Amino acid sequence: MSKTAVIDIDNTLWQFSDALYLEVKKINDNCPTPDKWNTFNIWEGYCSLEDFIAVINTIHHNQDSDQYLPYPESQNFLLALKEHGFHVIIASHRMLETTQQTERWLARHRLPYDELHISHDKTVLFPDADIVVDDLPRTLKKAVESGALGTGLLFPWNRAHAGNDFKLFQNLNEVLDYILTSS
Ligand SMILES: [Mg+2]
Repeated sequence: MSKTAVIDIDNTLWQFSDALYLEVKKINDNCPTPDKWNTFNIWEGYCSLEDFIAVINTIHHNQDSDQYLPYPESQNFLLALKEHGFHVIIASHRMLETTQQTERWLARHRLPYDELHISHDKTVLFPDADIVVDDLPRTLKKAVESGALGTGLLFPWNRAHAGNDFKLFQNLNEVLDYILTSS
């Protein structure tokens, strides 16, 4: 029986934070750069929550634009998981209306996967997941509580939470090594 890997998109397969920064900066020029985002609630003090959600939706609606590129390691990361027998579910918290743009982006950059899960609650996948790759501490915490191995990329907003429960790394090659040696 194959193992299941649930893989996030934003800040896992591409640098969503840079796109978010550019969009929030249009609303408030004082928005700090992503290297200073010690929490992901970066809108606080810089724009309204409504504006922040609208900005995120705008980025997702334009997912398939020329500027939004995956990390150089993303294709090999997903390919290697599939080659090692993982059933790869790409899971992203975004509006269902952005499904086509997301599918086009994945196809355009030849990012292999078995299933695409778009919803506002990816944790429904966790009871059947062996591996969860994500950047948000609360998501990784839920993954670990469900018995999955939690891992992802290290960022200012998750650094303080990386402990014994889940391991965070500088790039996807290191995440892959960790997954393959731990499973
Ligand atoms: Mg993410």
